[in-house]
Amino acid sequence: MTDLKVILSQDLKVKPKDNELKFGTMFTDHMFVMDYNKDEGWYDAKIVPYGEFSVEPSMMVFHYAQAIFEGLKAYRKHDGEILTFRAIDNFKRLNISAERMCIPRFDECMAKNALYELLRIEKDWVPSQKETSLYIRPFIIATDPYIGVRPSDTYKFFIILSPVGAYYPEGFKPVKIFVTDKYVRAASGGVGFAKTAGNYAASLYAAEEAKKMGYTQVMWLDCAKRKYVEEVGTMNIFFVIENILVTPDLSGGSVLAGITRDSVIKLANHFNMSVEERKISIDEVFDAHEKGKLKEVFGTGTAAVISPVSELNLNGKKITINEGKTGDISQFLYDKLTAVQYGMDKDPFNWVETI
Ligand SMILES: *Cc1c(COP(=O)(O)O)cnc(C)c1O
Repeated sequence: MTDLKVILSQDLKVKPKDNELKFGTMFTDHMFVMDYNKDEGWYDAKIVPYGEFSVEPSMMVFHYAQAIFEGLKAYRKHDGEILTFRAIDNFKRLNISAERMCIPRFDECMAKNALYELLRIEKDWVPSQKETSLYIRPFIIATDPYIGVRPSDTYKFFIILSPVGAYYPEGFKPVKIFVTDKYVRAASGGVGFAKTAGNYAASLYAAEEAKKMGYTQVMWLDCAKRKYVEEVGTMNIFFVIENILVTPDLSGGSVLAGITRDSVIKLANHFNMSVEERKISIDEVFDAHEKGKLKEVFGTGTAAVISPVSELNLNGKKITINEGKTGDISQFLYDKLTAVQYGMDKDPFNWVETI
C-alpha cells in the first residue's frame, strides 16, 4: 500500500510467555491509526508505536458514545504461518455499525490491507501454544471537541492488538446462565445489530446482578414481549433440540450478526446437520427440556468460539442441560471450527487467509 506511513518503535516490549497470557491486558508494540475530517475524508493512515495520545475532555465520544468496534483474531499455524479468519467480514460489519451510528464509512479493503501490514510488523506477537491467538480490536471514535448533540465532524480509526491465552486452558467449562425478563439488551429499531460501545455499557447492570446470584451471564429476551430468546451475554445462542440446531433469526434488527454464528451455521450445514434460524421462545426451550428434547445449549463468539451452557434459570425455575456437561455437537463444532481457523483442516469456505 503506497499511502500507509510506518513509524517503527525504537523501544520494543518484552513479550509475555504463551502460558502466561490472559485476555486483553497487554498490547503489542504498534497500532494502526487513521483520521477523518470533512474536507479530506479518511486520511493520514499510519502504523505508529502503540501508546498514549492526548485529547480534550470535551471530545464527543466521551459524552454521546459515537463509538464502534470489532473483534477478530490472528492465529499461528503449526508451520509458523499467520492466518486470519473472515477478516473482511469484520470490516464490512464495522461499516454497518458506522452507518447506524452516523460515522463515515471507510474502504474495507484498505483497512484489511493495513491490518495485514500491521500483523506482518507484529508477527512475533502471535503466540503459538494451542488455542492462543492475537486478538485484533479495530475501533472508531468521534473526536470533535464539542458538547452539542450532533454527529462529530472528525473521527479516529484505530487497530490495536493483544495476545490472548486459551479461553479454556483446562477444556470447556460450561456456564450457568440467568434468563432475564427484567432487563433488555436491545430493541427493535434501536442499535442492537451494531457493535457499538453503548450496547455494552447498557448490558453491565444485568450481568452484575446475575453474577451476584452465581451466574456467569444473562440470556436476553426480546424487549416487546420478553418471550423470544435473542442472545446470551455478548454471544449469539444456539439450542440443539432433538437433532436440529436452532438459533434466533436476525430479522428483528436487535440481534448482532455474529461471524462465529454464521460460521457455525455454514459448518453445520456442511456436515449435514439441520439448522433453523427462527424465533424461539424461552417457553419452547423449557418445554423441550421437559420433554427430553433439549440436548445442548451453547453461545458463539470470537473470544470463546463456543461456550457450552450447563444451566438456565428463569424466575427461579432451573434446568440443567446435558447433565451440566459439554455436548457432543458443541464439542464437534468447536473442534471443526478451530481446526479451520488454525489451518489444520481444509477450508472449504475460503475463510482463512495467510498474512
Ligand atoms: C461481537 C458480538 C457477538 C459475536 O460476534 P462474533 O462475530 O461471532 O464475534 C455476539 N453478540 C454481540 C452482542 C456481540 O457484540
